[in-house]
Amino acid sequence: MRGLEELRSFQHEVGPIRPPSEGGSCSLLLRVTRNCPWSLCKFCYGKPYGRGRFSIRGEEEVKEEVRGLGRAVEILQEVGEEAWELLPDLPEGRRDGLQNLLSWFFSGGRTLFLQDADALLVPTDRLVGILEEVGRRLGEMERITCYARGRSLFRKSEHELRRLREAGLSRLHVGLESGDEEVLRRMNKGLTPQQVVEGGRRAREAGMELSLYFILGLGGEERWEEHARGTARVVNEVNPEFVRVRRLVPLRGTPLFQEVREGKFRLQSPHGELRELELLVEELEFSGRLCFDHFANPFYLTPGGPRWVLKQDYEGYLFPRDKEEVLRRIGEALEREEALYVSSADLSVLEAL
Ligand code: SF4
Repeated sequence: MRGLEELRSFQHEVGPIRPPSEGGSCSLLLRVTRNCPWSLCKFCYGKPYGRGRFSIRGEEEVKEEVRGLGRAVEILQEVGEEAWELLPDLPEGRRDGLQNLLSWFFSGGRTLFLQDADALLVPTDRLVGILEEVGRRLGEMERITCYARGRSLFRKSEHELRRLREAGLSRLHVGLESGDEEVLRRMNKGLTPQQVVEGGRRAREAGMELSLYFILGLGGEERWEEHARGTARVVNEVNPEFVRVRRLVPLRGTPLFQEVREGKFRLQSPHGELRELELLVEELEFSGRLCFDHFANPFYLTPGGPRWVLKQDYEGYLFPRDKEEVLRRIGEALEREEALYVSSADLSVLEAL
């Protein structure tokens, strides 16, 4: 079949990561930048991107790819599920691109994620042009999202954010990590909580949804209270649609992994993390969703397998409605013996093997 032959040589570049919630909804990945422009946060160090050099892809190059995606969609409408049979024979680079397209298309083609770590570094005119091309070639999406560094968001005016919103960009995933300025400074985040507050409010004014990330344990034993209280303050001021909790698991090859080894940073114990989470939740006064959609969030072992303290789904707990339920679950978890939990240190050692 000619269509299948054409799909065999289909080129679609995909970057290494996207938020789990975008994988859950089978978002089409569109790489408008490559890698992370900062790569200096002590806990991450740009490792998910192999510490590769950051670049912004050319507008024409990306638009050409979007046109190719549009053509591939026409072919898929003709050939249907047979296209899956192409995957095993393709070289790895091309297989990932086609696999992403097929998962997106056959799950309804509803959402799109702009890669990599900071799509807001693309000049606004250029990004609007790309989003308009997406609309023309792939039709209207239910949701278009990207990762945005808080600093890049802070630098965008409300007018620019409105233009991006009108062109289709509807949700930003922003790594706040901590609302405590000192924790962010120690972690070399290159960002202040106030910048997230101002940029985040502007994004909300422009009609965008925000998904803010919080790293449980990032203040260590020393600064957990300031970390939890500061984060609740920022969340309450911004009032994002989502707060997504990620537990700190030091990655081998990062400066933080080294600090933990040398005893310069003391990780929270499992009960310490739960107390930190309890304090955060007690202080939260926002009307969005608190989500624990990552396997590394607190869990304990039972003969039947691991059990997570809080549910892992992408929509999480709606506040203020579910606040008491979350506190009740954390309270129960604190009554369980600490030795039953898999600690962040245990996970970090596993990761290092
Ligand atoms: S946390 Fe984000 S900004 Fe920091 S190094 Fe990692 S990818 Fe880059």
